[in-house]
Amino acid sequence: MSYDCDVLVVGLGPVGAALCALLAREGVTAIAVEKDSDVYPLPRAAHFDHEIMRLFQKLGIAEEMEAASQVARVYEFRNAAGQVLMSYDLIAQGSPSGWSPSYMFHQPSLEVALRRLATDSPLIDLRLRRTLKSIAQDADGVTATIDGPDGPQAIRARWLVGCDGAKSPVREALGIGMSDYGFDEPWLVIDAVVSDPSRLPTANLQICDPARPTSCLVMSQGRHRWEFMLLPGELPEDLLDDAMIRGLLKPWNSEDCVEIERKAIYRFHGRVANRWRDGRILLAGDAAHQTPPFAGQGMCSGLRDVDNLAWKLAAVIRRGADPALLDSYQTEREPHVRAVIELAIAMGRVVCISDPAAAAMRDAGMLAQREAGQAAPPPPSPRLGPGIVLDGPGGEYFPQPWAGDARMDDVLGAGPWLITRASLTDAPLAPFAEQLSPWFESRGAEAVLVRADRYVFGIGSVDTLEKAWAERVS
Ligand SMILES: Cc1cc2nc3c(=O)[nH]c(=O)nc-3n(C[C@H](O)[C@H](O)[C@H](O)COP(=O)(O)OP(=O)(O)OC[C@H]3O[C@@H](n4cnc5c(N)ncnc54)[C@H](O)[C@@H]3O)c2cc1C
Repeated sequence: MSYDCDVLVVGLGPVGAALCALLAREGVTAIAVEKDSDVYPLPRAAHFDHEIMRLFQKLGIAEEMEAASQVARVYEFRNAAGQVLMSYDLIAQGSPSGWSPSYMFHQPSLEVALRRLATDSPLIDLRLRRTLKSIAQDADGVTATIDGPDGPQAIRARWLVGCDGAKSPVREALGIGMSDYGFDEPWLVIDAVVSDPSRLPTANLQICDPARPTSCLVMSQGRHRWEFMLLPGELPEDLLDDAMIRGLLKPWNSEDCVEIERKAIYRFHGRVANRWRDGRILLAGDAAHQTPPFAGQGMCSGLRDVDNLAWKLAAVIRRGADPALLDSYQTEREPHVRAVIELAIAMGRVVCISDPAAAAMRDAGMLAQREAGQAAPPPPSPRLGPGIVLDGPGGEYFPQPWAGDARMDDVLGAGPWLITRASLTDAPLAPFAEQLSPWFESRGAEAVLVRADRYVFGIGSVDTLEKAWAERVS
């Protein structure tokens, strides 16, 4: 059987580009086709979290992304009168990966860095200005027809991953429907280049003003974002009018210090594809799920998808694992994705209230909670759903201790780890023992097997873990 590549990746947004980079590290060959010639030039995602920074660390671009982003310190919900309804001190929350909990960034810069990783690998072939037209699969592989400057071309791959965004032609071709949370709010999004950041807020703000729910977000690299909800009866063209935008920005002391880089109307919604695998074809990123942006997690979820999927594809393609392993991709990731979408929708429902009486009730309730000393609930740290995880701590996120500048993942390297409690005092783990020991003690673990995506497979004796892992993954 002859193949052009192991995996055909359709779409080179952040999720497709990261998948290519991850597959290359696993020794898997990929062709990636992208209909556009360059990265989408305008910022969409503005935030990523510590777990994503740990993924960038694995890919070797953490320092580059740290330099290009800005640590987010405070996230506040305020009412129309400026009173704080809910406040997250993001720094104080800390993070299990050792990185800052939240970063603000510029999506095109990340996409350029991810594409460079893929371009640098001899295993990855990036083909721009190539549009997927059709797909057909059989028991052994997938054949895709791609149209481009040289005319139509067929590509034969063992597997195909649709990272082709919210409208996903791959998902459409497979006839896969989506379950919809019924959250559907139109917002105007404005990205601005700022000449004098000292005039603008340094915290990320949700202004819960029923007269105009508004988000105001610090970005990196001299940018700021505002998002304004459309009120009942307003038309997109009304809000996109320059005079209207100038009026919306007036209260922000931004006159003469911001230059609008883009303005767009988006409908914020929550949707999850019913099936993420169909035979030899899988979906990842926005093709598989979409979330309102209030928790800054859409792209983050897509990047977690491909971190989950890449090592499983490698196990099937390179080590002969049963393809049924790939069914665990959706069972593990979907509950996690849904927890994140539900959090974002809950946040959105707090913000998107345009009825003054309902807003007054919300404000009174939230102010009373703050006066009673109730802190904002911590962000959830969802576990994986059932799949390649054992009972107990299986599916939990495994921490990364730092010893000074030394980070455990760099020391232990790629792939799964089997760590015994007894080995904590020996090299190379000794510098991290003090921080890791409580993890073992609190779970009564003799040993832990940590997967390549840094989620826990399970705890137990070395023999039990090795046997259980071999049964599921080999
Ligand atoms: C206003 C806004 C704010 C956001 N804020 C955040 C945030 O703060 N944090 C966060 O994590 N996420 C955020 N997101 C979400 C984030 O931008 C998306 O989740 C992310 O871009 C999805 O990446 P993707 O690679 O799955 O899809 P996309 O980035 O949409 O990439 C899909 C690619 O597939 C290509 N393609 C499509 N069809 C074909 C075809 N037939 N052939 C070849 N190529 C094709 C497209 O050209 C595109 O390049 C935000 C989104 C918006 C709109």
